[in-house]
Amino acid sequence: MPVKKSNAPQKKKAVAAVAKRGRAARPRALDPATIHEVFRRFREANPEPKGELEYVNAFTLLVAVVLSAQATDTGVNKATRALFAAADTPEKMVALGEDRVRDMIKTIGLFRTKAKNVVALSEKLIAEFGSAVPRSREELETLPGVGRKTANVVLNIAFGEETIAVDTHLFRVSNRLPLALGKTPLDVELGLIKAIPVEFRQHAHHWLILHGRYVCKALRPECERCVVHDLCRWPEKRI
Ligand code: SF4
Repeated sequence: MPVKKSNAPQKKKAVAAVAKRGRAARPRALDPATIHEVFRRFREANPEPKGELEYVNAFTLLVAVVLSAQATDTGVNKATRALFAAADTPEKMVALGEDRVRDMIKTIGLFRTKAKNVVALSEKLIAEFGSAVPRSREELETLPGVGRKTANVVLNIAFGEETIAVDTHLFRVSNRLPLALGKTPLDVELGLIKAIPVEFRQHAHHWLILHGRYVCKALRPECERCVVHDLCRWPEKRI
């Protein structure tokens, strides 16, 4: 009976070749002048970018961002229109109660946990912050359901701080162009803070999220209508 020759060495070689190609293909981050040009073009195309979550004050913004984890802004807005009409302050949210809140947001993913967090964070705002949304990251992160990304969004939109909230869209765009390379959202956030010129930091978070959501999409990026396609170093760009 003939002895079957192992193809393990060939497989090993193929894996090594793919790994080598991957390493070679990973571009360096853009230089400062090119990063400036990227944001100059984003600003030219959309001078006053806005987020898409609906809210009426800092409290409802905080609640909307907590509800938006692993959900679309459109889906959150559909549920919060009625919720915020009934409760636009921590006191009214607590009075509404967890069962009613849960019922009003049941179209949003993870609604049970989110309802619990929304009522608990409202109670904490009343008990510890005079019913106001705190302005520091450390304090925001003590609230139930609030992590670094949520705190960054609230600090940026409600208080005009130059924070960068790294969501899945922003993470992808930053690594593709690349503006700041990183394996975790925190790596990317800290890299972007260093890389983005001061004049663009206030709006950078919105420009990058909107670019990732509508143009530099995960599966089929629309590179042909991308305003920075000639500056992008992503080896798989479609142009
Ligand atoms: S060229 Fe394509 S991959 Fe590069 S940033 Fe634009 S949309 Fe994204």
